[in-house]
Amino acid sequence: MPRIVSPAPVESSRVRLDSVRHWWLGGIAHLCLLVAAVPALAIGAEDFTGLLQRADAMKSVNPVEFVRLLDNLHEQQTQLSESQREHLQYLQGWRHAYAGEYAAAIPLLESIVDKASDPTLQFRAGSTATNVRALSAQYEGAFLQLNKLLNKLPEVTDQDARLQGMSVAADLYVLVGEYDLGIHYAEQVVKENARGRGVCRGEQIRLDALCKSKRITADNPDLQTAVNACLSQGESLAANAIRTTQARLFLREHRLDEAIALLERHYGEVEQSRYPRGISEWESLMAQAYQQRGSGNVAQRLALRSVEHSVKDQFTQPLVGAYRVLYEEAEKHGDIANAIAYLKKSARADKAYLDDVTARQLAYERVKSNTLSAKSQIEALNQENKLLQLQRELDSKAAETSRLYIALLMLVVVFIALWAYRTKRSQLHFMKLSQVDSLTGISNRPRFIQLAEGVLENARKSQQQASVVLCDLDHFKAINDRCGHAAGDHVLRQAVMACQTHLRVSDIFGRVGGEEFGIVLPGCGLEDAKQRAERLRQALSSIDPMFEGERCPVSASFGVTSTEISGYELRQLLAHADAALYRAKAAGRDRVMPFDGALADKPAVAIGEALRNVGHA
Ligand code: GH3
Ligand code: MG
Ligand code: MG
Repeated sequence: MPRIVSPAPVESSRVRLDSVRHWWLGGIAHLCLLVAAVPALAIGAEDFTGLLQRADAMKSVNPVEFVRLLDNLHEQQTQLSESQREHLQYLQGWRHAYAGEYAAAIPLLESIVDKASDPTLQFRAGSTATNVRALSAQYEGAFLQLNKLLNKLPEVTDQDARLQGMSVAADLYVLVGEYDLGIHYAEQVVKENARGRGVCRGEQIRLDALCKSKRITADNPDLQTAVNACLSQGESLAANAIRTTQARLFLREHRLDEAIALLERHYGEVEQSRYPRGISEWESLMAQAYQQRGSGNVAQRLALRSVEHSVKDQFTQPLVGAYRVLYEEAEKHGDIANAIAYLKKSARADKAYLDDVTARQLAYERVKSNTLSAKSQIEALNQENKLLQLQRELDSKAAETSRLYIALLMLVVVFIALWAYRTKRSQLHFMKLSQVDSLTGISNRPRFIQLAEGVLENARKSQQQASVVLCDLDHFKAINDRCGHAAGDHVLRQAVMACQTHLRVSDIFGRVGGEEFGIVLPGCGLEDAKQRAERLRQALSSIDPMFEGERCPVSASFGVTSTEISGYELRQLLAHADAALYRAKAAGRDRVMPFDGALADKPAVAIGEALRNVGHA
């Protein structure tokens, strides 16, 4: 006769679903037992926030009062603020979930997740919504909601909310066989230990996960420690859930007497809980233990009770176990008709249960792969963005480099221009220096000859007259000797200034010897030139003779000739002017003497003398 030796091989995934429901509903059922102990609330002048907080605290402790408070608040909801209305909506969602009205609960809770102003309330609603989706076998929705929860978890500071969220995560991961993840979150719940509840809740999930992943034996002392932690918090249903785990371990280890002893010891307590799912599982385990020990009748009775207590249309591992006990006992007693009926029921329950396991695992895998692909898409987008950013940085760097080059180039251009300008200026400066007489500031001899030749050439081309005047200061050596060289220099400068006041811009004026000056007067005939030379002579005679207390009278002699007599050749003109000057000196100085036209064609000795005084002669 076939017997169920150990429920372990198929139990692991089945109990997962139960675990979630067990936890949630178990908590509510347990707290219902305390109803009588809580005094009825007096709704007096409490403000709405106070009332909402009271209802929140009351929801799992005193469901009747909770519903009353909620109805009361609902009637006055127009007077509530936005955040108070959100809190009320959360509690209404919770109330629907409590009543098993999952379809009504989910939209209420999830709309808070999306829009509530308070992040803690958002998180709490998300946790409850995740749980409700799992309870109503909407596994994909549950895992999607769980992802959102876990993303928000680091920002949540409220300990109760964190504990709630992490418990949901731990339960869901255990549900799909991700035991290590489940254990990780269960340990977080223990660490969080909000108001001392973390150890009981976290350890319950952790030990369940360890049992299902076959990493614990029935002797593990943590089992008793966890039971004690739950009992100290008044969580007797959670304590019994842990005892269920231990009973399963005893069964797995074929320690039937210990399993039966444990289950029997707390059976009455479990029956009193009025929590059918918990009672059904408990009785199924007892039936299996008794059957394996050979107490078929007791086993059959307990298995029937287990079936009776099981939730309608919910196919769980304990139900499958109970049907198997009934099938095997009927078969043992030759009751073929019943045996076949129980076998069919067992097979149906098993299939439905396995379908559920498959559904939740598929949902988990789908969400995980979608999340991964979304993550990899985001990653790819991030990489693309990084690339674009790099490109932009590169472009801006290139632009910066170009700007630098341009600036550098401009600097070089400016430098070259400056350098060229300075060079040109110094060139001009030196050129000027080389053309100017440093003492008087007028053209020196070479420059005078150059300018004079230009003017004469122009005059020749335009057939205009021009005159040349040579002026030599009289007895200048005596001035130097008598008044000093400085006085001589002073006289030279005074003489130049005096002449300049009578010369036109177009006239050419230069120092052609020590105390000798040449003047070219374009457009002037001989007569005109004589008159102008006369004015110059008078100007020089009028120079103040006093210099540093010494009397140094100034006078000069002038020789004049013009193109009409001497032609346009400078050399000739200078020679003739010099000849005239010579005559002025000889005639007694301080006078103007025109060149004698009669001498013009003869290269006289006097003229030769004049030629020798011209630099390029
Ligand atoms: P004359 O009336 O015959 O022209 O007599 P002079 O003394 O003027 O002529 P001479 O040629 O004998 O002397 C010219 C003097 O001019 C000689 C020289 O010392 C002087 N002299 C030439 N250049 C300068 C100069 O730049 N500064 C000074 N102080 N004296 C100069
Ligand atoms: Mg002289
Ligand atoms: Mg002289």
